[in-house]
Amino acid sequence: MALAPVSFTSSADVGHYIAGQVVAGASGRSQAVYNPATGAVARQVALASVDEVNAAVAAAQAAFPAWAETPPLRRARILTAFLNLLNQHKDTLAAMITAEHGKVFTDAQGEVTRGIEIVEFACGAPQLLKTDFTDQIGTGIDNWTLRQPLGVVAGITPFNFPCMVPMWMFPVALATGNTFILKPSERDPSPSLFIADLLKQAGLPDGVFNVVQGDKLAVDTLLAHPDVKAVSFVGSTPIAQYIYETGAHHGKRVQALGGAKNHMVVMPDANVEQVVDALIGAAYGSAGERCMAISVAVLVGDIADTVVAKVAERARTLKIKNGLELDAEMGPIVTAQARDRIEGYVTLGVEEGATLVVDGRGHTVAGHEGGFFTGGTLFDHVTPQMRIYKEEIFGPVLACVRVKDFAEALALINAHEFGNGVACFTSDGNVAREFSRRVQVGMVGINVPIPVPMAWHGFGGWKKSLFGDMHAYGEEGVRFYTKQKSIMQRWPASIGKGAEFVMPTAK
Ligand code: NAD
Repeated sequence: MALAPVSFTSSADVGHYIAGQVVAGASGRSQAVYNPATGAVARQVALASVDEVNAAVAAAQAAFPAWAETPPLRRARILTAFLNLLNQHKDTLAAMITAEHGKVFTDAQGEVTRGIEIVEFACGAPQLLKTDFTDQIGTGIDNWTLRQPLGVVAGITPFNFPCMVPMWMFPVALATGNTFILKPSERDPSPSLFIADLLKQAGLPDGVFNVVQGDKLAVDTLLAHPDVKAVSFVGSTPIAQYIYETGAHHGKRVQALGGAKNHMVVMPDANVEQVVDALIGAAYGSAGERCMAISVAVLVGDIADTVVAKVAERARTLKIKNGLELDAEMGPIVTAQARDRIEGYVTLGVEEGATLVVDGRGHTVAGHEGGFFTGGTLFDHVTPQMRIYKEEIFGPVLACVRVKDFAEALALINAHEFGNGVACFTSDGNVAREFSRRVQVGMVGINVPIPVPMAWHGFGGWKKSLFGDMHAYGEEGVRFYTKQKSIMQRWPASIGKGAEFVMPTAK
């Protein structure tokens, strides 16, 4: 059964959202947005000029003083109204994601739900901004801490979660009193304008949330703009590193989350059926276009043959369809270029000597011959020297590496340059405990293949998966979007006479 495609903008083309208004692009530059299931150009997205970015920053800067002064509870009430609207329009948003990204509709619903959870977290703004107070640090003197907003902050987001990743950022930024500029991926830009409209309906003052569509020019303008105080980035590692270095060069606070190569260790005592279900979902779900997708199965000892055979059987029969069909398990890849890149890696893997167990290249879907489809691919006998092991493929390609024991599995993972997510499937509590303590990765799942932390825990990898020191959302998100100020106070009755020339100490 197919869902009817949704219509979500009054014009086919996607513009900016500045000072509470949708603004058509005026730069003369635009880029095609595709329907990946058919391959057709669905609309154009405007690519902002320097002037358009500057206009968005000016709107956010103008809105900042009043928003920062708005009591956190009132800010939270607007976010609560936004939350209610999101819940009402969840399926529209999910269908919009599927139409431009390609992921299956039920997966897109899950994406929206995970974004909504951050909004729920941000609705606790008064509690999140509550700080410490120490009475009587010296006679008649108190000391307390404030957390104050930074000002205008920007979020630059990837194509693979056009709703959830922006929601890792702006709900927390707005709750803490900042104004926000979102620069979404140019490959699936429409959800950003739908979100802007819901925020307006919820009562958010104009200028507090703005969207500039664009490419490197828009990003570079934000990175250099003196009124942008912080930048949150999620995307590939080379760009994350560039954003971190350039943003820091311009004196900004930066958190830049990068790419991944997530391993799943399968111990000989693991439950094989659970392992196979986990690998199929985590490697091929969302066509592998998730930063927490499992792309390497580390098979320990004798269990390898059984796991490879069972995963192969399931990978060959994945239901690959237009994501709007409700029984689809895997949709198309976001663009033809991304599909060709993935299939290029499959060819490379064969050249490098890995065993190609299931070949997803050249997959076609009847009635969708122009769509950007590829099938699930499975490699066995992959070695750490191969590029298909070392590099992020970001597609439905699972590489199996065989190792002799737990120590070899752990050393393999810890030697990898990425450290985003990891999983270990075992029924031995000691192995699980050792693994979670010793693995050099930011997010760990024990018998959980995709351990994306909940809204109040914070998301972030290690090594080349994150540049900066604060994770997204959760308490780290609150810290990222606020400056700490310490205030010490006393009143005349407790002030002694005469100047003091020694370092003040508690008296
Ligand atoms: P990308 O790096 O190509 O693009 C991300 C953003 O950066 C986009 O908004 C894009 O317009 C902008 N951009 C691209 N090239 C730029 C340049 N040269 N200069 C300035 N800005 C530039 O990433 P993508 O292909 O959209 O997303 C997939 C990548 O994101 C994967 O590597 C994936 O692992 C990663 N990702 C990481 C996480 C995480 O939490 N660590 C989450 C989701 C996605």
